This record gives sequence, structure tokens and C-alpha cells, in this order.
Amino acid sequence: MIYNTLTRKKEIFEPLHAPNVGLYVCGPTVYGDAHLGHARPAITFDVLFRYLQKLGYKVRYVRNITDVGHLEHDADEGEDKIAKKARLEQLEPMEVVQYYTLRYHKAMEALNVLPPSIEPHASGHIIEQIELVKEILDNGFAYESEGSVYFDVAKYDKAHNYGVLSGRNLDDVLNTTRELDGQNEKRNPADFALWKCAQPEHIMRWPSPWSNGFPGWHCECTAMGRKYLGEQFDIHGGGMDLVFPHHECEIAQGVAAMGKPVVKYWMHNNMITINGQKMGKSYNNFINLSEFFSGSHPLLEQPYSPMTIRFFILQAHYRSTVDFGNEALQAAEKGLQRLMDAWNTLNTIPSAGATTVDVAKLREKCHEAMNDDMNTAQVISLLFDASRSINQIADGKATISADDLAELKETFHLFTFDILGLKEERGSGNAREEAYGKVVDMLLEQRQAAKAAKDWATSDRIRNELAALGFEIKDGKEGTTWKLNR
Ligand code: ZN
Repeated sequence: MIYNTLTRKKEIFEPLHAPNVGLYVCGPTVYGDAHLGHARPAITFDVLFRYLQKLGYKVRYVRNITDVGHLEHDADEGEDKIAKKARLEQLEPMEVVQYYTLRYHKAMEALNVLPPSIEPHASGHIIEQIELVKEILDNGFAYESEGSVYFDVAKYDKAHNYGVLSGRNLDDVLNTTRELDGQNEKRNPADFALWKCAQPEHIMRWPSPWSNGFPGWHCECTAMGRKYLGEQFDIHGGGMDLVFPHHECEIAQGVAAMGKPVVKYWMHNNMITINGQKMGKSYNNFINLSEFFSGSHPLLEQPYSPMTIRFFILQAHYRSTVDFGNEALQAAEKGLQRLMDAWNTLNTIPSAGATTVDVAKLREKCHEAMNDDMNTAQVISLLFDASRSINQIADGKATISADDLAELKETFHLFTFDILGLKEERGSGNAREEAYGKVVDMLLEQRQAAKAAKDWATSDRIRNELAALGFEIKDGKEGTTWKLNR
């Protein structure tokens, strides 16, 4: 079951062309560093991508890069966000795009977000967008005005009902639309641009039948979704802030061009607040991911590792808001550590006799939670329950049979690492602590060699000196593990 924003209810997931699944998620506009607002949709839909694949589907995941047409006011006015950054920094727009795309990829890799199957750029699909605009014009749902082309919302609304996704009707939209410059080109203030004639100072421009200009922001996802996933595809995702106008306009464009809805299920992740406040530049609480990782922001008491951020986001259901604060992040850091410790312990505990802890049906319960609209919070809580059982076995207060131990290992690994996409980090993930980790590994290898040579004095000395520094060394059947007690 997944919650479909379009129908406002949980629906059983039935792909249009099983075992193939088409998934489209709106990617970043690459004119600045990736922040928390980028992390949440990326992580949410990464888990969906991973889970669908584990269920046996062949998923084609398209996540675009917006590098043209996203204007400052999200509507049809203002300077292009990328062109503005390029002007301020005296760079080519594509230098800005390249720089921030690479930084975005680095941040996503740190968060263990898998790359999508296809990552198309809007600027590389101008021809497809012009085709889309032509079709909408031919079908009578758009008009040309001063070299620009606008979508005729009122005409579309009569035929197809505008506002199905956001629940807004045309009057609501009209009441909240600001009168801005250039709107005199429009028949109706609710109309939105499909193609904009470029002003002389506008640097990102392409020829079209109507003018030298650039596509409207909403066109790219409709054009690229169709190109890579077909005229109808399964899931379209993004942040809740994109429901209106972006996704509402995408639906209208698709129906106006192709005569039928393109997307079967719409999924939206909720927003992030910081210390109870909306995140935004004007609140001075705009924290980039790299600042979280290094701790270099006045609101942060310490660095938070990429996995702490990932774990924290997944501890909430994706449709709930998440509030970031130091206390909550520190709790997440401990929670993640507990899970990783349990995994390491799980690899050292022996099986013996009958199973006296409650680990039966863990796999089934985790699947149930995931199948209930991707309840990652519930999965984590089940993994915590399992961790308690693991510790009881390690402490000799309970036992587990060989079959159950093998099943527990497999299930724990499947959900923790493969589906939730968590991974082990040493320390807070910064380079110095990683280097410490490597040194400890090296010492343990020497100790292993000493043991093999029956040089117990050296082996004990390494162990004791590491223990004195706070490293807890555990020897198990499957090798030696260590952790730093703080
Ligand atoms: Zn989009």
C-alpha cells in the first residue's frame, strides 16, 4: 500500500507493466549547495528504489537535474536562478551547473543514496520540451503572446478540472496569484509559461518557433518523464512543496498534450523544520549538508555524520514533518550506534539449543511495515527490538538456534543495510577519525599475527593498550570487532 497524494488514500501498488516500474523524482535546481531539503526526498525515494528492487521489480528511476527555466519566484517571473548565480560569480551558467551537480553527487554518495538509473538535464532536452509545447498548442490548451507561450488554465479547467492534486480550484489560485510584471501578456493571471521569450540580458536561450527563449520550469519533468518512462508511468515523487504549482502544472500539461493522466501514483515527502522553524535563508537556519558533516554552522553543537542524518530522516515516517535540533540528532547518533553495535554483536554470538528470544517473524513484520506506505520508523523500531534480543543472547540470558541465528542475520542485514541503506561509519565520519579506524585495524592485524605465532605477550599488550584508550575489543567466531566507547 502506498499513499497516493492524488486520491488522498492508501492504495495497493500495482505497476502498469510489472515487473517493470517507472519512478520519476524531481531533482535539485543546481545553483547552490545541497541542504537538508535535498536530503529528505533523495533518501525517501532511495529507500523506495531499493525496496522495490528487493521485491523483484525492475525499476527505472529517473531523477532530473534542473539547470534551466527555474525562475526566482517559482512562477514565471524573476531571473533564472542559475543565470543569476552565473552573473554574480562571473561564470558560465554551465560552470555553475557542473560545480553544484558534482557537489550534489558527493553529498548524495556520503548519504549512501544510490544514483538513479537516468539523471537527465533540462538543458539537454530543449527539443523534447518544444515538442510538448507544440502539442499543447495544437490541442488548443495554450496560446502565444509576445513570443512566449502560456498554458490556458481556464480552458483546461472547463475540460479537465485543474487542481486535482493540490485540491485548489481555479478561484483559489486566482486569489493567491500576485500581479507581477509581464502578466499582461497572459489572458488570465493563473496561466503559466510553457515557453518564455528571453529578454536581451538573458543568457540561457534557445531558438524555437515562437522566439529565442527558454522553456517554462514545469515542462522539463513532463517532457523527460515521457521520454524515459513512457506516456504513462507508475510513480512520481518529490517534496510536498512541489505539489503546487509544479506537479499540478505537470498533470495539466500531460493531460493537455496526451489526453490522459501520465502518472498513476503521486508520492510526496513532508518538510523539514529546524528547531521548530521553517528552514529558509531568511530564518538564518539554512544548514548545508557539508556544514552538518563538518559541524561548521553556529546552530550545530557538533558534526553529524551522513549516516546520522540518514538515520534521523528515516526514523520519521516520510509523510510526517521532521524537526532538526541538536538534541534529536544526538539521540539519532546514539540510536544508529546501537543498531550497528547490535549488528557487530550478532556476528559474534554463538547458536545453542532452542531459541528463547522473540526474533521469529522479524522479516514478515519488517515487510508489513514497509508495505504499509513505507513505514521506515516502524522498521527501525522492530530492529531495535531485535537488537535487545541480540544483546540478551550475548549476555547469556537467552539462546538462539542455528537456523534462527542465520535467519536473524540475513533479515537484520537486509533491512538495515540493503533497504534502509544505512552503513557502518567510524566516529563521526571525518577524515581524522577514519584514519584512527585504520590504525586500530592495523594494530589488530598485528595482534592477530602475534596470536598466530603464539606470542601472547604482544597480543595481550596490544589489546590492553587499546582498551586503555577506550577501544573495546571483542573476539568472536567470525573475527575480531572493535568499537570506541565514549
Ligand atoms: Zn519536476
